[in-house]
Amino acid sequence: MLTKSPKGTKDILPNEVYKWQYIEKEIAKVCENFGYREIRTPIFEHTELFQRGVGDTTDIVQKEMYTFLDKGKRSITLRPEGTAGVVRSYIEHGMASLPQPIKLYYNITAYRYENVQKGRYREFHQFGVEAFGSEGPSIDVEVISMIDVLLNRLGISDIELNINSIGCKKCRSDYNAKLKEYIEPKLQNLCKTCVERFDRNPLRIIDCKEEHCKEITKDAPALVDNLCEECHEHLEGVKRGLENLGIEYNIDKNIVRGLDYYTKTVFEFVSKNIGSQGTVCGGGRYDGLVEICGGPPTPGIGFAIGLERLLMVMENQGIEFTAPRSTDIFIATIGDKAQNYAQKLVYDLRKEGINAETDLMGKSVKAQMKYANKLGAYYSIVLGDNEIDTNKAFLKNMDTGEEKEISLDTVIDRLKNIKAESVIKEPNKIGHTEI
Ligand code: ATP
Ligand code: MG
Repeated sequence: MLTKSPKGTKDILPNEVYKWQYIEKEIAKVCENFGYREIRTPIFEHTELFQRGVGDTTDIVQKEMYTFLDKGKRSITLRPEGTAGVVRSYIEHGMASLPQPIKLYYNITAYRYENVQKGRYREFHQFGVEAFGSEGPSIDVEVISMIDVLLNRLGISDIELNINSIGCKKCRSDYNAKLKEYIEPKLQNLCKTCVERFDRNPLRIIDCKEEHCKEITKDAPALVDNLCEECHEHLEGVKRGLENLGIEYNIDKNIVRGLDYYTKTVFEFVSKNIGSQGTVCGGGRYDGLVEICGGPPTPGIGFAIGLERLLMVMENQGIEFTAPRSTDIFIATIGDKAQNYAQKLVYDLRKEGINAETDLMGKSVKAQMKYANKLGAYYSIVLGDNEIDTNKAFLKNMDTGEEKEISLDTVIDRLKNIKAESVIKEPNKIGHTEI
């Protein structure tokens, strides 16, 4: 028990963290290109925020939250998603009075008590975006196009964009009546949760994951066919905008999304090749949410991408991540004098921004060189008493085998030059540069 992480959680180990760092870097770049700024909110919030902000007829609130009383008897919940916290922050810090739109992004862990399976965990990572203050379809198109750019930069090609509209309060209440009329005769066959939802929020039934509920709802009337004029126009605007950018999409009448607060545009990016956990991204417009959470009426739109699923899709598609080599130079040593010298030398190199390593284990020089190879060091030097006394040593390019005798006191300058030159050409690779 003690030596196993809790069910549904995973360590990201040093030998795979570079994949995450790579994706996080690409995310940050895309957000910068699109003018979205990072926001960091607490891992836990007052439970009520999620009850209101996610909606108390959702699976998340009804079944999946990590909720507990803290020592001050407050009900606290680990965030099951990112939007509610960002909305709370938008209100708390009066962002509504700043020039709109406010465009934010986050990279977070989220917590849901789920049925653990591949692509479905209890702690998982989400990259998400929220844009407040703009009600026209162009911001819908902008956030969707961001995802498109990110997927392209990551080399992902087997993902489809599905969009839908779930209307506004007005079209939804007319539609709910129609939907209830259709479902009523089959009510006994729905799962217990859906029976409860029938009166409070029948649209939720469309989103149920139970097979027999899906079977019943598959021919139900669709909200997208029952939109009011304004919502219909909005959807047409989104479609035209996507076509203008050359972004392909499908209309999927069954997308309802798992959160109560969505209005109008909803969308998903789905990979067909990885089975039921193929939904990599979910998003939509949430024009009522800021007000529901106690702020001024404010339109908003956002999405969240599950990073575990994004990685799954990339791996499934055979996208290779090259593990970065991080050791610029390894200083191997023979004897105590060399070891002291090397300790000072790597310290000075490191101060100058060079990734330098030396032996910390008392290994033989042969074992040190083997270790330097394993680290993927680009250069190495072997130091003994003689090298120190004569101030001369051989700098070796570990990739080409080329060796050059240099003055020891020029090592730092040489490495700085090599690194500066190669960083511009090839950021992750300083080897193959002439000594
Ligand atoms: P699903 O229908 O798969 O349960 P959801 O509608 O609950 O997804 P959202 O709340 O919209 O998902 O979250 C956005 C994205 O976060 C999902 O598309 C998915 O990529 C990811 N995600 C959601 N729940 C999990 C989880 N338990 N483990 C890993 N990733 C998840
Ligand atoms: Mg879910």
